Order: sequence, then structure tokens, then C-alpha cells
Amino acid sequence: MSDCKKIGFENEKSAKFTLKKILEVSKKKILPKRAYKCSRCGKWHLTSKRDIKVLEKENLELRSLVCEYKTRVQDYSQKLSLVKRERNSLIKEIKDLKSLFSYP
Ligand SMILES: [Zn+2]
Repeated sequence: MSDCKKIGFENEKSAKFTLKKILEVSKKKILPKRAYKCSRCGKWHLTSKRDIKVLEKENLELRSLVCEYKTRVQDYSQKLSLVKRERNSLIKEIKDLKSLFSYP
């Protein structure tokens, strides 16, 4: 059953302990990120690959962040168009008032 070539740890605790030690001392570029229980051999291994569930959760958070920014941009452009409209009407009012003075 244990045809795994990876180092197998008996339990989560020792896998995580080793992971912690590796992260403390290793100078390698690719480092293990997490420990997982292997469905083939039943032991615990270390992997540098990210957990798909974690990635999915991050995507969810990113999606809501994008949503939030879109709302903010929309709010801003609505506010901007209101301010522009007010500005234009004020300019028009000044023009109209000035034109009153042009008659002697
Ligand atoms: Zn395994």
C-alpha cells in the first residue's frame, strides 16, 4: 500500500514540526508550505503545492474585494457627475447674470 516515494510522517504533529524546522533552516528556493494526510499510504507528507481549498477561499475574498472596488468606483463617478452638473449650472448662472450687466 505504501508506494509513496515521499517521506512519510506518522502523524500531523510530527509532519508540522518538521515543516517548521525546515522553514527555519532551509535556504532552498522551493520550500514545503503545508502538511497533508496522504490518501494512498495514510501517512503525512509535506508539499510545496498550495491547498486548493485555501486558493478557493482566497478567490472568494478577492472576488468580494473586486466587488467592493467596483461599487466605490461607481459611487465616485456618480458623485463626480453630480459635481460636474452643479458646476455647469453655476457657470451658466454666472453667465446669465453677467449678461444682465452688458445692457446699459
Ligand atoms: Zn503517501
